[in-house]
Amino acid sequence: MYKNNLNSFYQKELKTYISRYFMLKFIFVIGGVISGVGKGTFSAALARVLKECGYKVLPIKFDGYLNVDAGTLNPYEHGEVFVLKDGLECDMDLGTYERFLNEDLDKYSSITGGMIFRELIKKERRGDFLGRTVEIFPHASYVFIEFLERAIKEKKPEILLVEIGGTVGDPENEYAIKAIKIIERKYGKDNVVTIYIPYLIYPKSLKELKTKPFKQNILLLWKLGIFPDIIVVRCPIPANERVREKILKYVYGQSDVFILEDLPNKYLVPLEIKSRGIINSVLNKLKIDIRQEPKLTIFKSVKSKIGKFNEKIKILIAGKYTGNKDAYVSIEEALYHAAFHNNVDLEVMYIETTNYDDKNINYKILENIDGILVPGGFGKRGAEGKIKFIKYARENKIPFLGICFGAQLAIVEFARNVCNLKNANSTEIDPNTPHPVVDILPQQKNVNGLGGTMRLGEKPIYIIKKDSLAWKIYKKDVIYERHRHRYEINPDFSDILTKNGLVISGVSENNIPEIIEIKDHPFFFCIQAHPEFKSRLENPSPPYYYFVKRCVEYKRNSKNKY
Ligand code: GLN
Repeated sequence: MYKNNLNSFYQKELKTYISRYFMLKFIFVIGGVISGVGKGTFSAALARVLKECGYKVLPIKFDGYLNVDAGTLNPYEHGEVFVLKDGLECDMDLGTYERFLNEDLDKYSSITGGMIFRELIKKERRGDFLGRTVEIFPHASYVFIEFLERAIKEKKPEILLVEIGGTVGDPENEYAIKAIKIIERKYGKDNVVTIYIPYLIYPKSLKELKTKPFKQNILLLWKLGIFPDIIVVRCPIPANERVREKILKYVYGQSDVFILEDLPNKYLVPLEIKSRGIINSVLNKLKIDIRQEPKLTIFKSVKSKIGKFNEKIKILIAGKYTGNKDAYVSIEEALYHAAFHNNVDLEVMYIETTNYDDKNINYKILENIDGILVPGGFGKRGAEGKIKFIKYARENKIPFLGICFGAQLAIVEFARNVCNLKNANSTEIDPNTPHPVVDILPQQKNVNGLGGTMRLGEKPIYIIKKDSLAWKIYKKDVIYERHRHRYEINPDFSDILTKNGLVISGVSENNIPEIIEIKDHPFFFCIQAHPEFKSRLENPSPPYYYFVKRCVEYKRNSKNKY
């Protein structure tokens, strides 16, 4: 008896020692009712505020789907595929974390159901569970915890912030939510905070916020034994006292409740996390103090500039996943960062290029457009439509930015219409083209399988011409941008393309053209990489910044014409 007490005394001492010198706290963020209401933005903004409070935070996104990574998902269904510096293809929330934290993350920040089950089956085959039945709970929960602990060991955070994708009630994330109870037991309840983010619906016909779906959804969480420490209720309009009362009564005062309505700009969320006391509640529940006052300077500057710019530019994105507003998030963000630093407002307009594969462009839609951007993409559908918009931008001297597939198609357009190479194409679209100006990368020819096998991640691009736009934009001999492609601009055609006026200003380590431009054009810049993945509010991506600058000039000049 006495021995036991002594043991537990030492255990307690050890725990205080560990938490003082090797602090490790957990925050779990779980969504409710519907997804897509800003759980990722909230988690990212919270991570940033905690960072500015002086803590080392590591965000992790868990996605329950059984794809091993997001690379094989369709952006139309699931939103953009984000690419990390180390080449992992992951959920777009990782982009939100990087942008809010102004930090590069790596593969430790992304866990999927596919990774968990691949590991679990591997363990089973190895014989780790001999004689036992392998079950989703607890075994998948344990593997999930192993992934978290691997990240902790590698990245040594003080606070691990885990966002669980989807909502409570999804079968795909139940074992991850159940893992929270195990973590509470293992690391101590004082070191774990759960934040639940439900949504209040606002039916148009009723014109009031309804709490019932939330009430029903939280029951699912309670059923799993999770009584969230904090509830951040999201809703489209500010909630009145009556709604707040209803919610408070329903949760019996066991959780701190905050209500966060839609804000005019997502970069205001960190300011609200501070001013509404959410950060104090999180720190209180984690039993830690603020180390330094969070300044949140950049977000304050966003706030102070809202409604203050007196110019607005309109940029057209001609792509084929335009039906999902999340498909081009990083591009929109990079344009926003660039517009913010150019002191102009931005309007992005989307055109579905599939509609123009067999049809001419209706030039009316291009009136008042100050710039055209053709983003990355895959496959035949929509490609001819994109080529028509590129041709229009080239001939009419409208600022143009071509990203990855957009750059490859700009080469196709130039080869066909300037170099007179009729039927030039990318072999991705037409394997039998007589002029394969874009062709599969040599190292891609013998690749098996399509998951995670592209040329991925940050790679150097060498800027080889000092009198180029590329040099003006980057002012460096070597730049590093993130890549995601299987095809390349075919160097066999470099001579004929350059003779006809194309400038190759950047190349890869294998001398493959990676940046191409056209002279005598206000801005025609194409890049094989995706600079948007590195754009931050604090540091806009250089080509995006320059593109927007030229769009502003274009707008001013075209106004003068009339
Ligand atoms: N489909 C092209 C390729 O594989 C472009 C990819 C992209 O735009 N990310 O090279």
